[in-house]
Amino acid sequence: MSKVIIIGAGGVGRVVAHKCAQAPKIFSEIVLASRTLKKCDAIAASVHAKTGQTIQTHAIDADDVEATTAFLEREKPNLVINVALPYQDLPLMDACLAAGVDYLDTANYEPPEEAKFEYKWQWAYRQRFKEAGRTALLGSGFDPGVTNVFCAYAQKHLFDSIESIDILDANAGDHGYPFATNFNPEINIREITQKGRYWKEGNWIEVDAMSVHRTYDFPVVGEQEAYLLYHEELESLSQNIRGLKQIRFWMTFSEKYLTHLKVLENVGMTSIQPIEVNGQKIQPIEFLKAVLPDPASLGPRTKGKTCIGCEITGIQAGKKKRVFIYNVCDHEASYREVGSQAISYTTGVPARIGAEMLLTGAWRKAGVWNMEEMDPDPFMEALNQYGLPWQVLELPPED
Ligand code: NDP
Repeated sequence: MSKVIIIGAGGVGRVVAHKCAQAPKIFSEIVLASRTLKKCDAIAASVHAKTGQTIQTHAIDADDVEATTAFLEREKPNLVINVALPYQDLPLMDACLAAGVDYLDTANYEPPEEAKFEYKWQWAYRQRFKEAGRTALLGSGFDPGVTNVFCAYAQKHLFDSIESIDILDANAGDHGYPFATNFNPEINIREITQKGRYWKEGNWIEVDAMSVHRTYDFPVVGEQEAYLLYHEELESLSQNIRGLKQIRFWMTFSEKYLTHLKVLENVGMTSIQPIEVNGQKIQPIEFLKAVLPDPASLGPRTKGKTCIGCEITGIQAGKKKRVFIYNVCDHEASYREVGSQAISYTTGVPARIGAEMLLTGAWRKAGVWNMEEMDPDPFMEALNQYGLPWQVLELPPED
């Protein structure tokens, strides 16, 4: 019996609320708190209609550490599930430490004024969480999150040594709009307009944004054009997977999406540098976010599937081996179940499973941890149970 506070009433927050409410034995009390109360209330109403469970709602500015600490002290939850934006990670970790509460998120901290994805800010809390006897679980979404657990599983069960990892994220869904992002547009565009980067034999190799691509034949969704990006799990996996020689991250994009993005970039709309308009300072990307479709509105329109997985090469029993561990998720099925498309679903379900791992003690240890530092087995089992079943495909080894 545990009480959780979910922070953030966006697409992912909706999935987490629904999935937690489906398991009242584990999540006996659920509070949803976010900046805009009416978004919390709308989610609470939908959860009640689907599951009969009541969840409490609150308005909160998670950037305000003092107010959030007081809120946590009053509510006394066992865990905070942070599915607000990456900017709220540090204030929420501070509030959790002050109030003595465990913490979980799905994306690493980013300073608002600089598109920089690094764990250094959150890893700097390791000692404080350890001393406080509290757990912070970082990146419990799909990528990062499930992809890290796939790698830990491969290390534990499928290989004697891992040589290379390619994380491949395909969204073959279609929402019918000429251009929209599947999750928070500001976070999404910041991520893909920065330089690409991958890790090889101890060095980071930088490439121009979207300049390296390949055609990859995914299970179920077929051939897709995948682009090399930097993604935050590369930083922790390159440190935590023993003997690793190379790790890269790839995401698929349609030509239509990339053309729109290029035009927006060329005219300066993706910039995070504030400009002055009619005496007011605004970030162009914030304005763009306001005119693009709200990702939460894509749910009822999106058809098709996602396929996200890790292609891993290495050695087992003296022989070369190559596998693809993956999940396929259907946009329409996700929408039917929880009222969100598959991008939010594939992030919210692992957040709910990560929460269960902490609340039941399966993964509870004091400190700040990335997902691959935990035992993958109970998490992998839970993926099959709670809506994200996975497969291991054996591929012919590369020469
Ligand atoms: P949304 O933009 O849909 O939702 C974010 C929510 O956070 C909104 O409800 C917003 O409030 C709220 N919020 C923003 N600032 C504050 C604040 N200061 N205090 C309280 N609440 C605040 O995003 P998503 O649901 O799509 O994404 C949620 C998180 O999941 C993001 O961090 C994203 O990076 C991460 N993510 C991780 C993935 C993974 O696989 N690991 C994949 C996809 C997303 P308001 O409604 O008022 O704007």
